[in-house]
Amino acid sequence: MHDVIIIGAGAAGLSAALWCDELGLDTLVLEQGAEVGGQLLNVHNPIGNYPGVEAANGTELRDLFAAQVAATVTLVHRGKTLGARREFAEKIQGDHRITVFNEATLEGIFGGERVEAVEILRRGALKPFRMAVRGVLVRVGVEPNAELFAGQAHTDERGYLVVSGEQETSVENVFAAGDISNPLAPTVSGACGAGATAAKIIASRLTLKSRES
Ligand SMILES: Cc1cc2nc3c(=O)[nH]c(=O)nc-3n(C[C@H](O)[C@H](O)[C@H](O)COP(=O)(O)OP(=O)(O)OC[C@H]3O[C@@H](n4cnc5c(N)ncnc54)[C@H](O)[C@@H]3O)c2cc1C
Repeated sequence: MHDVIIIGAGAAGLSAALWCDELGLDTLVLEQGAEVGGQLLNVHNPIGNYPGVEAANGTELRDLFAAQVAATVTLVHRGKTLGARREFAEKIQGDHRITVFNEATLEGIFGGERVEAVEILRRGALKPFRMAVRGVLVRVGVEPNAELFAGQAHTDERGYLVVSGEQETSVENVFAAGDISNPLAPTVSGACGAGATAAKIIASRLTLKSRES
């Protein structure tokens, strides 16, 4: 029997696995994807906010925004200013191919077999205006991947697993780390820290248990 089973080999799972190994625990890591890394596999921006990770992989955000496949991009969002990190916001604002509509909402998508137009309502306008487009990319909201625990572990109103300061869920000895339990600040450093915390708590509990028996 394994001491620990880790579901998911993203930053949190890998950090927990490294710590479990360091602490001498027999650990099995299950990953549904073909590769380990989780979201890190999709991060094409430099990760400059995690110590030890070099700013590599220079795919720029504007590339992400389809500058290579579309002549122009219109970014519609509800806020007064872009909520993206400054480095990204500056790139968007400095790219003549990207038009930003602040305080605006997408009211409709129109077309037949292909998208042909959208309607955008700008704050203060009485009615939306129609704009011809060749594609729509919806990037709204994030959902935690916690269905596996539905009806078993407590979740908050948005479906994120609720954990204690020890990263333990409401089910004894079931721990959660990373984005699945961190709606406020989903980051590589947060995921790694939480994975390490969970591993250390598990190790100390197992040590205590073996001393008692
Ligand atoms: C485009 C982008 C840019 C980002 N930029 C930054 C940045 O600059 N700095 C920063 O700190 N953070 C950044 N982040 C956020 C950061 O990548 C995440 O917070 C972090 O990687 C989350 O790690 P995680 O282990 O919690 O989750 P994930 O990376 O999502 O890993 C979860 C893993 O679990 C696996 N899994 C899920 N369910 C199962 C199952 N039932 N069985 C087996 N395996 C399962 C998944 O396949 C996945 O591999 C960025 C994220 C994105 C998408």
